Amino acid sequence: MFFVTKTPWWNAKTKPQTRISSIPARELHYYYREEGDEKRGMVMVYADAPSMNYWKFFVKNKSHQKAEINQDERLIEQYLKYLTPHPASIDPKERKAQAQAITCFGIRDWGKEPFEAGCYVWKPEILVDQSIAALASFGLADSISLRNIHICGEAYSDFQEFIKGRLRSALTVLKQIN
Ligand SMILES: Cc1cc2nc3c(=O)[nH]c(=O)nc-3n(C[C@H](O)[C@H](O)[C@H](O)COP(=O)(O)OP(=O)(O)OC[C@H]3O[C@@H](n4cnc5c(N)ncnc54)[C@H](O)[C@@H]3O)c2cc1C
Repeated sequence: MFFVTKTPWWNAKTKPQTRISSIPARELHYYYREEGDEKRGMVMVYADAPSMNYWKFFVKNKSHQKAEINQDERLIEQYLKYLTPHPASIDPKERKAQAQAITCFGIRDWGKEPFEAGCYVWKPEILVDQSIAALASFGLADSISLRNIHICGEAYSDFQEFIKGRLRSALTVLKQIN
């Protein structure tokens, strides 16, 4: 999800995850810019299990090719509830002003068709250890003995879907580089 507002309480120095404990989400990222006297702020909200279960009811379309922009206005209510400076004590006038300051908002659910999420997995019957070793260092056809091509990354690791996989894969490859 994202919200763009003309009255952000955050600025360019606001760190990711600020106030994450007050919203059902895994990650919050803030963006800020000034143009003359005008301010613009965007907050991006990322949710996966379990917090995505809170947000999935705000996605309208069954097939979901792209983000739904400015569709379900109940999302603005959620912004007011979780992402305004003092949600518990906001007075009606301020509430209205904060809602009107939102210039754009949207939501995207990567778990819906046609993408239905995505992650890397080795094909059945692939010998993972051997494949990782082969990819860590090999040569091209005209210089096979040189072994100067190295492939690493979470996609080619023994711990797919996680940063740990990427790190493990990088360490394996680094050991092959002279
Ligand atoms: C939404 C989401 C949430 C996640 N949450 C978690 C989590 O909570 N915990 C966790 O451990 N992991 C999580 N992951 C997984 C984690 O982000 C990945 O495992 C990790 O980023 C993989 O690192 P990588 O370096 O292998 O690949 P990437 O991070 O994908 O890096 C590959 C880089 O190569 C660049 N690139 C691609 N093609 C080219 C090209 N032709 N030329 C030059 N550059 C190119 C790309 O731009 C990218 O910067 C999450 C992933 C996603 C998508």
